[in-house]
Amino acid sequence: FRVEIAANIGSPNDVSPALEYGAEGVGLFRTEFLFMDRPQAPSEDEQFEAYRRAALLMGERPLIIRTLDVGGDKPLAYVDMGQEANPFLGWRAVRVGLDQPEFFKTQLRAIARVAAEFPVRVMFPMIATLDDWRAAKAIFDEERARTGAAGEVSVGIMMEVPSVAVMARQFAASDVAFFSVGTNDLTSYTLAMDRGHPKLATQVDPCNPAVLTLIGDAAEALHAHGKWLGVCGGVASDAQAVPILVGLGVDELSCSIPAIPSVKAAVRSRTLAECQALASQAVACSTPAQVRALVPMTDS
Ligand code: PEP
Ligand code: MG
Repeated sequence: FRVEIAANIGSPNDVSPALEYGAEGVGLFRTEFLFMDRPQAPSEDEQFEAYRRAALLMGERPLIIRTLDVGGDKPLAYVDMGQEANPFLGWRAVRVGLDQPEFFKTQLRAIARVAAEFPVRVMFPMIATLDDWRAAKAIFDEERARTGAAGEVSVGIMMEVPSVAVMARQFAASDVAFFSVGTNDLTSYTLAMDRGHPKLATQVDPCNPAVLTLIGDAAEALHAHGKWLGVCGGVASDAQAVPILVGLGVDELSCSIPAIPSVKAAVRSRTLAECQALASQAVACSTPAQVRALVPMTDS
């Protein structure tokens, strides 16, 4: 079996360290760095240069660029976000892009221009419905056509909202090319617990059997349609959880740069059959503590 070990990066400067640590690709390039803490949005050319710099360093290795994930708790000086009672359930990520498409279109043109030259993939955050996907994909196709770029671009979505995991069959049958689980948000939304809440944070564990069941069922549905599933949330860097994720059928793990060696070691230390046995025990557990007890820390 083959699990790709990729890195999460937050700027083109992270590419060299990621490769030094042994990343085979970038599974999540967070683009917020270009948009935050400044008075105006970056131009298409500024974005093109930044994405191209990362792509050039990656060469033939895959690079997944995630479109802007702001709003909610991440404000932008040049967009009126208003006041929201529940920012994490509100106007954030791809919802901002669909509602005020100017920034989104500029970003998509910059990415499309780089994708014409390098194996760059595009990923939308916080997709909740097939309509979200269709609308975002249509804007991408339109902007890409405007750049005159030739060739195919692989466009996928993050699985961060439980509705996408629950409806994995329908999403898999659509033209979404790939999926990556954002376990940070998926865990929060599945348990209805804010990951930053001081009283609840310790319970927001992606090893909760509810979250693992969503991931495993989704992987099965996607594989039936020849689609692949990655994980780019924090749990992909957790060596204790990695064998379980592999056993659930995850095809790619995108982790923090320093975690790459331990994640690789955790994948190599077990056979696929061992990982699958762990995964089926994990989804039958009643608590995250029981799940974690299946994989002793020293052993991971
Ligand atoms: C996630 O939600 O798991 C994720 C990778 O996105 P972010 O942490 O940037 O919200
Ligand atoms: Mg997220």
